[in-house]
Amino acid sequence: MMLEDGDFNEAVRDKIINQQVNAEYAAAKTGDDFFEIFDNMEDEYFKARAADIKDIADRLISCLEGSSAAELKEPSIIAAKELAPSETIQLDREKLLAFVTELGSSNSHTAILAKSMNLPAIIGIKVDKSQSGKLAIADGNSGRLIIDPDAATLEKYREIQKSEAEKQSLLKSLKGKPTVTKMGKKIMLYANIGKPSDLGAVLENDAEGIGLFRSEFLYLGAKDFPSEEEQFTAYKKAAETMAGKKVIIRTLDLGADKQADYFNLGKEENPAMGYRAIRICLDSPDIFKTQLRAIFRASAFGNVSVMYPMIISVDEIRQIKTIAAEVMKELKAEGIRFNENIEQGIMIETPAAVIISDELAKETDFFSIGTNDLAQYTLAIDRQNHKLEGINDPHHPALLRSIKTVAENARKAGIWVGICGELAADTSLTQTFVDYGINELSVSPSFVLPVRKAVREAQ
Ligand code: PEP
Ligand code: MG
Repeated sequence: MMLEDGDFNEAVRDKIINQQVNAEYAAAKTGDDFFEIFDNMEDEYFKARAADIKDIADRLISCLEGSSAAELKEPSIIAAKELAPSETIQLDREKLLAFVTELGSSNSHTAILAKSMNLPAIIGIKVDKSQSGKLAIADGNSGRLIIDPDAATLEKYREIQKSEAEKQSLLKSLKGKPTVTKMGKKIMLYANIGKPSDLGAVLENDAEGIGLFRSEFLYLGAKDFPSEEEQFTAYKKAAETMAGKKVIIRTLDLGADKQADYFNLGKEENPAMGYRAIRICLDSPDIFKTQLRAIFRASAFGNVSVMYPMIISVDEIRQIKTIAAEVMKELKAEGIRFNENIEQGIMIETPAAVIISDELAKETDFFSIGTNDLAQYTLAIDRQNHKLEGINDPHHPALLRSIKTVAENARKAGIWVGICGELAADTSLTQTFVDYGINELSVSPSFVLPVRKAVREAQ
């Protein structure tokens, strides 16, 4: 809207025509002039808009220069104050070596994306511009960033890199082996993805299916609502690539830290507990139906399941079922093929869902426990807040007991239960999860083989 402002545009145009300067300069100078005007205003609200003007002018300049948010010319470590998931997914994976951010937390979606890209991500480190362009080591294990390392340090890290690579190749021997415990209990070991380009890593790491396709990343990477056709193409690709193995597509979980401008969700006081995920879908049936049509259509091309995020009540499931039934009826009437018995499950990621999991289990085909959000809401620890990193205990008994309760209620109702939050990859808990009766673990592709090793070593 600011860019549509007549005064702003007129000022840019005037500079180009009358001062004979190029467009980039005109945008920069206009941005500076408007910044001054807003910054000098008495009213606090308008004063705060100065930074927005600057941001918009900078983005306009990078568009004019034809560069994206961060165009990498060579293999690089990206350092930033903060990286939004929407920015992260646009980075060139081929040239990206690591992320270092001042803000954020290990449970944020940016950190999760780093895991799915198999990259180190370090949080809580301030890097100033004078360090740009220097050689650096990002040690994801210790969380250290070493700038301008001396020869001995460099050598030490080359050795570490070599032994990591050896460990990885040892794990490769587990490819093709079944994921069963010593007692013969089978665990379904799946991978989490955000977009079809992650499928290569899923196959490379020998995942037995996809336990969480975070479909919202299709929305985050787009400038406008992805059409039914665009979504169908992405879901069909996943279904076909997995060739009969299970592909669980989660309906869009936007909101909180995952913002797409065109949704115009607005600012919220408490976004993690705000207008997000299934709440948006039930409120905007058109958006929801478009996505369901795409998912159901893709179900004709493989073993597709659908799951719904952020559930807190039986009533939500009933509303979802009504909408899903309408979509199926429409597809049938149009003669479009789909799996009429598509498996439909829910995520358990709110304490409410844990507490009523006995009732929810009667209404759904499976449970997938989202420990990232479940930990956030159970412990009242904002997963985005780096100040709370120290007290965020992923092994908190309240969280473990919740998982146990959900598993018991799933078993009683005769449905399967999995974990798709980051805790699924914590191999110090693999035995515990087996003991609880967890049937499925879904992890970032690079964690599939380490978890298979842990399951095979469990009783
Ligand atoms: C979770 O909350 O654990 C989860 C898997 O979903 P997301 O991390 O995308 O919120
Ligand atoms: Mg979640």
